[in-house]
Amino acid sequence: MPELPEVETIVRGLRPYLEGAEMGTFRLLFPSLLRRAPGVSLAAFEGNKITTLRRRGKMILVECEGGRTLVFHLMMTGQMLIVRPEVPVDKHVRLIVPLVGRGLELRFRDIRKFGFLCCLGPSGPLFIPELEALGPEPLEIDFRSFACLFQGRRGRIKSLLLDQRTIAGIGNIYADEVLFRARIHPLTPAASLAEEKLRTLWKSMRAILRLAISRKGSSIRDYTDADGDPGDFQVLHKVYGREGEKCPRCKGAVRRIKVSGRSTFYCPHCQKKL
Ligand SMILES: [Zn+2]
Repeated sequence: MPELPEVETIVRGLRPYLEGAEMGTFRLLFPSLLRRAPGVSLAAFEGNKITTLRRRGKMILVECEGGRTLVFHLMMTGQMLIVRPEVPVDKHVRLIVPLVGRGLELRFRDIRKFGFLCCLGPSGPLFIPELEALGPEPLEIDFRSFACLFQGRRGRIKSLLLDQRTIAGIGNIYADEVLFRARIHPLTPAASLAEEKLRTLWKSMRAILRLAISRKGSSIRDYTDADGDPGDFQVLHKVYGREGEKCPRCKGAVRRIKVSGRSTFYCPHCQKKL
């Protein structure tokens, strides 16, 4: 699943094409893409101008004039592509949004069909559960507030990093890379982390996410940016997907275990269990 760095890269790539663009008549090719929410109909967005494109957690918010917002979640294999209308529409394209006067279309393509779209109206809070329950942004939160997320919390540190209600945007790849950099065992109970260790974790999280954004994310499976280009942070993965390979720090073997049902990669020597 695209995580914060990949979604941030997609948003940055889409911004010049979408901000200020007027949307034409939507072609919804897969009606289940539309998640039922107490918002507005898709038709209400036709003829609207897009004002701002931004990321929240792993979601993409397309904010339009009149205060309406389209919320896209790419889930496993969703892609948002900018193409010319003459490009053939393959069977995985779920939604087409013409960009009036620009000779371009935004296409939402999704092989596995887990991605979704919510249409939010102008009044009231953003009341879809996925947005409402979202924790703070990892690159915006200060150390004090970050420490408060974990102090006294039951649960393992890796599980809490994956929990979007605790902190938004981190998934399996970056949780493993952040914990390796911070030299914290993924099964460490969050409440047992001393302040100094939490500070290392906070710094590692920021460093890894910033580095990954600068490398345009990790390309595994179907992820590409808005222009269809892959990122290359995966070559810098130190433990993720590297079971049995040498740890770049101690040369011991990287191990794989399951945490919260997810494959978790770590170095048992560098990330000692407390
Ligand atoms: Zn090691």
